[in-house]
Amino acid sequence: MTKNVRVRFAPSPTGPLHIGGVRTALFNYLFAKKHHGTFVLRIEDTDRSRYVKGAENYIVESLNWCGIPFDEGPGKNEKFGPYRQSARKELYKQYADALIASGHAYYAFDTPESLDAHRKDHESKGKTFIYNWHNRLKLVNSLTLSPKETQDRLEAREHYVVRFKSPKNKTLTLKDLIRGDIKIDSNILDDKILFKSDGMPTYHLANVVDDHFMEITHVIRGEEWLPSLALHYLLYDAFSWDVPHFAHLPLILKPTGKGKLSKRDGDKLNFPVFPIEWEDPKTHEVSRGYKEDGYFSEAVVNFLAFLGWNPGTEQEIFSLEELVEAFDLKRVNKAGARFDPDKIKWFNHHYMQQQSNAVLAESFKSQYDVLNDIDINYIALVVGLVKERATFISDFWDLSFYFFQAPKQYDEKAVKKAFKEDTPGVMTQLLDLISAIDEYTSKNLQITIKSWITSNEMGFGKIMMPLRLALVGALQGPDVFEIMFLIGKTETVSRIKTMINKLK
Ligand code: GLU
Repeated sequence: MTKNVRVRFAPSPTGPLHIGGVRTALFNYLFAKKHHGTFVLRIEDTDRSRYVKGAENYIVESLNWCGIPFDEGPGKNEKFGPYRQSARKELYKQYADALIASGHAYYAFDTPESLDAHRKDHESKGKTFIYNWHNRLKLVNSLTLSPKETQDRLEAREHYVVRFKSPKNKTLTLKDLIRGDIKIDSNILDDKILFKSDGMPTYHLANVVDDHFMEITHVIRGEEWLPSLALHYLLYDAFSWDVPHFAHLPLILKPTGKGKLSKRDGDKLNFPVFPIEWEDPKTHEVSRGYKEDGYFSEAVVNFLAFLGWNPGTEQEIFSLEELVEAFDLKRVNKAGARFDPDKIKWFNHHYMQQQSNAVLAESFKSQYDVLNDIDINYIALVVGLVKERATFISDFWDLSFYFFQAPKQYDEKAVKKAFKEDTPGVMTQLLDLISAIDEYTSKNLQITIKSWITSNEMGFGKIMMPLRLALVGALQGPDVFEIMFLIGKTETVSRIKTMINKLK
């Protein structure tokens, strides 16, 4: 690659960033870093009617949480700024004017009502109305009006739009790094609106002008923008600008694999579709986020990387650095990628095991008041014993409460299985044995108790099951001797006594 790679993520601040948008940002980031290039954030806020307060902040926070911050953008390394389109209005006006002057665009004054009438008229004849070479010479625009009439209307501040004059009988070859060459017959294109009399450009003009002036080399975006590609090619051509490389990422599909993933799918199947929590500024409705639901950003990133890309090997676990190393647009699929909320849990479980016990203990402690007075090192030891069974920090309490308080009840099935007629008797003997142990370590407990069982020919289940029941209240949890060691001798003895009294 000769030129310095420059890519951009160009969201519209119309609400919270959908998880699919994060995937687009991630692929841009990975591509930029892989090629030692620059990852630009551009805020496409020209549609003021859809502008939502707080959305831009949310986008920036989401990227930061994922660990994929932008290199250039609003308020950061503003080399090609401003990076908000609303602050670049003058530029778009200038280039809309240039297209009119060069004959690639024209003013159109048709009212919404008259266009509607044309549409209906066509429909009644079984045809579809397209504003392009078919019809443009029958409509009210600067191609049909005299220059004076056009000028008069503009001076009278009549509403107008600037439309692109799409060419007739041209076959366009669009290049996409993921999809290969795409041939398009220009006759099917309509004369898209580029600019409006409120002084604002539409997406197409602003996007192309900005990609050019921000020296974007690769446009990596969602498949939903593929239908705009022909117009964008024509615009580059009209301006005589170099066309950047394009890559349109596959759609993200519902868990069923049918149709595009939507917020409703998340609500229905109980998983978030946003990276972080979002509160709608108007309705105050709160949408869940992966962050608040207890996902590690590493898990989210690893999961998203596989939505449409694969390394071509069996390896599934990738750190961000490894993703940068392995990422290749050639390995991005055309076919839609199914969103599997169970798979992201699988990644979370994996990244949970990678986290240090100390860090996990801090978050666990911060979430439960009952842990306020408990030594953090103790919590970390507990976490170390149970995290293998945990997917979220919120799983810890159920998996480990008995390290912090005696069980309040005993699982019924477990009692049936573990507590027999002779249990009070053998447990009382065990109590004596435990009380007499001086070196109270898990290792020594194990040796002493096991050899006691063997020499008395009692069978392990007969002792170990009621012992576990006394400590945990159920027949689950990690190694019994570790539990005994951590809760201490006094507590162990007390729990065994309590069980004997309660169940005998
Ligand atoms: N503003 C567009 C969006 O919201 C950007 C599309 C593009 O990347 O060209 O997705």
